[in-house]
Amino acid sequence: MRSHTWTGALAAHARGGSAAFGGWLRTPSGVLVWRSAERVGDVTLRQAVDRGVSALLRVGLAHRASAPQVAIWPEMPLRSGKALIQQAEDAEAVALAESVLPPPPEFAAAGIEMIEPGHYIAHESKDYQVWTRLGVCSCPAFTFGATRTCNHLKAARAVERHVG
Ligand SMILES: [Zn+2]
Repeated sequence: MRSHTWTGALAAHARGGSAAFGGWLRTPSGVLVWRSAERVGDVTLRQAVDRGVSALLRVGLAHRASAPQVAIWPEMPLRSGKALIQQAEDAEAVALAESVLPPPPEFAAAGIEMIEPGHYIAHESKDYQVWTRLGVCSCPAFTFGATRTCNHLKAARAVERHVG
């Protein structure tokens, strides 16, 4: 059985209204036959995983010598034809999926309005006052100390760097 066991991983990630899957697949002898990431648009993580499973299965079945077992981590087994696919979190697969998504929103500078140099308003569900020179923000995350450098400060400083 061990000699027929393929290994692999699959993960999905979403950011900025877009989802992506990433994954890899190795033959029983350890040869990497698939390592891929693809942005699949505005779909659920479940749907993104399903797309990834389809892609992985195609590769696995294309390479099979005789009905191989494709064993991908010990959770959530899916059966497709004669291949057994199992999927779970894997750091490399997650990193692959993340690599094809847009950058994190705090650097998108959306909703940051400059009042005067060093003073900004971050427009979210509420408006927050951001003073970059003082390094202070009026949001709860900053005020209650959960994150002393909140996303608003980061975003306002990113805007500052781009403006000037
Ligand atoms: Zn803040």
